[in-house]
Amino acid sequence: MKSKVFSADWVLPVAAQPIRNGVVVVADERIVWLGTADEMPAEWAESPVERRSGVLMPGLVNAHTHLQYTHFDEVGRGSFTSFEDWSDAFGLVYDEVTDPSAWRDAALDGARQGIATGTTVFAEIVTNDEARGSLSECRVTGIEYLEAIGEFGNSWRDGGRDTFLARLAASGAVPFGVSPHAPYSLDGAVISDLMQIAAERDLRVHSHVGESAVEADLYRSGVNTVLTAYGDLRDEFELVRKGGVGHTTAEYADSIGLLVPTAHLAHAIYLDRAERDLLRSRGTQVALCPRSNKVIGLDAPPVAAYLTEGHEIAVGTDSLASSPSMDLMADVALLAVLAREQGYTDDDLYRRLVRAATLGGALAMGVADSLGYGSLTVGGPADLAVFDVDVHGDDVERAVVEQAAGRCTLTVSAGRVVHDSSLAPVG
Ligand SMILES: [Zn+2]
Repeated sequence: MKSKVFSADWVLPVAAQPIRNGVVVVADERIVWLGTADEMPAEWAESPVERRSGVLMPGLVNAHTHLQYTHFDEVGRGSFTSFEDWSDAFGLVYDEVTDPSAWRDAALDGARQGIATGTTVFAEIVTNDEARGSLSECRVTGIEYLEAIGEFGNSWRDGGRDTFLARLAASGAVPFGVSPHAPYSLDGAVISDLMQIAAERDLRVHSHVGESAVEADLYRSGVNTVLTAYGDLRDEFELVRKGGVGHTTAEYADSIGLLVPTAHLAHAIYLDRAERDLLRSRGTQVALCPRSNKVIGLDAPPVAAYLTEGHEIAVGTDSLASSPSMDLMADVALLAVLAREQGYTDDDLYRRLVRAATLGGALAMGVADSLGYGSLTVGGPADLAVFDVDVHGDDVERAVVEQAAGRCTLTVSAGRVVHDSSLAPVG
């Protein structure tokens, strides 16, 4: 068994207290020991040592990505007034893609950018299956959630369902899941069926909920503004034909079976207290994507409320079609600012946000407990990220939250170095 010692000024296991002058011993794909350098057992004294300044922590878990849209960064550099405004701009560039191999090239670039900023686990939504396989090719992991979007009762019955089942039957290099795009872009019966399909196969689910400011109007009264990007198809949706069902967003999502502990929801901005409580009572986690929300012109996610109300949260970058970069820690830094602006005063803010970017994401994806992602533990996967941050006193988590964006120097996935800034080309 080949072992290697990774050492840093601080080791931050997330599930345990920070360790000053810490080391993590890795053998093959697993962590075999962690603790202080002084206490390291003699059996590893001859192992090669990778010594870094700053903080060594678990590889980040990016709980919401669409890597296939990495080359839509021109859209992401724009600014928009609403989700519907952005959807129109996105639709134009999406329709221009005629060569399906473009999806794979973009997904690989996106994965590399995420890895270079410390991510080793991705909750990756796949709309076009040509984009599958980027995570394994870049030697990281995650779940590829195969997306269904724009299906009505009729289209689902007349081939849509069979096509989706065929996609699920194709084998993938990393585990896959099911992504009903959003409760507004699929008929309720289709989502209920997808939830059944996922449950029968023991698959995780990931969806977009509460991203648009006018989404709730559709569920409540059938107003179809959120469906602008669907053009002539808008009136096909059952909710439009029925004039809504009088539900809030979360009540509607719950009524079609979307709120389960095996699902997590991206954005979750436009949910009130009762709706957030409903999510929590169902064990459904949210993945907040504040920089994407900002580009699109949406309100900030209510991060202070989620923390105060006791949610276990996760964080995602979303794609470069709506976000400046794949650097998850930039979203974490923004969440800290937003939480304070929204009145969150508790000292646990930094600890909880570090957790959101690691263990919180792993829990949302169901890869924490049995597989050990999102924290550093003996026997767990050797997924590590090192950030060259200056720790003042012993406030390790605060240093990571405020400074880690742009400062990843080393990323290790399953014991293998997948990014090393000292080797990376300049620029
Ligand atoms: Zn998304």
